[in-house]
Amino acid sequence: MVRELTHFIGGKQVPGASGAHGDVHDPGTGRVQARVPLANRAETEAAIADAEAAQEEWARWNPQRRARVLLCFLRLVEAEREPLARLLSSEHGKTVADADGDLQRGLEVVEFAAGIPHLLKGEFTDSAGTGIDVYSMRQPLGVVAGITPFNFPAMIPLWQAAPALACGNAFVLKPSERDPSVPLRLAELFVEAGLPPGVLNVVNGGKEAVDTLLEDPRVAALGFVGSTAIAEYVYTTATARGKRAQCFGGAKNHMIIMPDADLDQAADALIGAGYGSAGERCMAISVAVPVGQETADALVAKLVERIGGLRVGPSHDPDADFGPLVGPDALERVRGYLDLGVAEGAQLVVDGRQVNVAGHEGGFFIGASLFDHVTPGMRVYREEIFGPVLSVVRAADYEQALRLPSEHEYGNGVAIFTRDGDTARDFTRRVNTGMVGVNVPIPVPVAYHSFGGWKRSMFGDLNQFGTDSIRFYTRTKTVTSRWPSGVREGASFVIPTMG
Ligand code: NAD
Repeated sequence: MVRELTHFIGGKQVPGASGAHGDVHDPGTGRVQARVPLANRAETEAAIADAEAAQEEWARWNPQRRARVLLCFLRLVEAEREPLARLLSSEHGKTVADADGDLQRGLEVVEFAAGIPHLLKGEFTDSAGTGIDVYSMRQPLGVVAGITPFNFPAMIPLWQAAPALACGNAFVLKPSERDPSVPLRLAELFVEAGLPPGVLNVVNGGKEAVDTLLEDPRVAALGFVGSTAIAEYVYTTATARGKRAQCFGGAKNHMIIMPDADLDQAADALIGAGYGSAGERCMAISVAVPVGQETADALVAKLVERIGGLRVGPSHDPDADFGPLVGPDALERVRGYLDLGVAEGAQLVVDGRQVNVAGHEGGFFIGASLFDHVTPGMRVYREEIFGPVLSVVRAADYEQALRLPSEHEYGNGVAIFTRDGDTARDFTRRVNTGMVGVNVPIPVPVAYHSFGGWKRSMFGDLNQFGTDSIRFYTRTKTVTSRWPSGVREGASFVIPTMG
């Protein structure tokens, strides 16, 4: 049976009215399991109007009361954590354990945002002049919107919505149309936790819905996470209309393996970070850079051995290391890149196209693949493949290895594996990339720091979550107040100074 999904507006499920819909697959079988309505302009505008109507009252709630809603939400999610992880896994294709991690990284930002009374305290200067006090406060922007990708359907909506709501904004979420069920359920749980209806609306859709959010003057700010071309489009369109925007794009994350690294640790890290979630992570490692021929030969041998033991299976299989890709287009794209790499002259050491998952012949499966002798001029190096494909680019020395991620057009994450503190310290300071791991393959920062790549992995000024998110979702108002106690000084025609 194909489930019919809805929007979530004004605290309730609202069926689609446009007549357009998208298919939500079961990536393990290839079957369509649900239909998601794609909102037109009028439906999206209705969600914005509803959010605008609810926002003022929500912003009047004191921060501690707003935080209580987030704390209650955490308890409600905890109570249905396993079904949520299973639902997420069934639409995305990542394993249930990995889907639980997707939830967990989102919940950590909700926990951070529950500290909003402290985060919103503002600044105060006593006696900036005689009888003059100055204070600044952070006020919400009003209605803000979020457009999120398929690959973290819990984590990224929560990274955006939790701080935005905590700051007193209303939030319109446009999740990925490929796996929208978890974001819809999370919105319901927010309302069950006490969020007033309309403060968080979920409108499903594609380009028309996004363009409406971009053009509507009632939307003050947009957060976007997805591929670079669309991130750039959303950023330039939003900012040209005077909106605040932070847009996070694609990636090509490198891992440098120095000759002194523990090669078994490095190989294990590469296998997990390269092939986990079938490589569908913006922080996946897709390029391994061993330094020196000896390191490269030994590393490739260890990788081949480990890939031989990997198990690809349906996402609900507890023994699967990773599941299928999200959809048929993703499968075609990744297969296309394997053909391309061979045509470009890379050595395909392990070819994942031969994978066979018995009983799941229609699923979007592809096995772990390994290219060796990839060079910087190749498209398989320059472009994001977003699948379980690891490319080895051999570097002669440290300086050459450092230049590779630094000169790549993407700059999301990077890692170095070494036992030498000097090298690690030099690398972290000089590499031209937003997030760096030292012997940590996926350096997604904790919720009270912040997440953001550099170069064409991010358009905007402020990162996601952490204190940057509080700045992004608020604007500063500064008050200068004076209590002259009956003193009359007469009119002054010079600019006021503090003397
Ligand atoms: P995507 O760009 O296809 O879609 C992202 C969102 O944009 C979706 O909500 C989608 O409906 C919407 N969209 C799609 N086409 C559009 C158009 N023409 N106009 C307006 N909106 C449109 O990305 P995806 O395939 O869902 O996600 C994978 C991508 O996201 C990868 O490139 C990955 O690296 C990136 N990503 C980046 C980060 C990060 O923090 N930098 C995190 C996760 C994913």
